Amino acid sequence: MAETTQTSPPTESPTASAQLVPRSWAYCAWHKGMSDTARLVQIEDAGSNVGVRRLFACESCRDVHHLVPVADQP
Ligand SMILES: [Zn+2]
Repeated sequence: MAETTQTSPPTESPTASAQLVPRSWAYCAWHKGMSDTARLVQIEDAGSNVGVRRLFACESCRDVHHLVPVADQP
């Protein structure tokens, strides 16, 4: 079954950006406001049944509180 429709693959260079960070607004739980630099971080909460809390932190709050985004963790 031959596809005759011309669907050329997108010519995007993989080396254009090593770190693709989608620009999406999220609620920063630290300064309690929306931010376009917010990334998902996990706070391990020992002694809790939940275990891990999922929160978003913006760039400046991550710097202040030494938070590591989930995507940057090993
Ligand atoms: Zn923040």
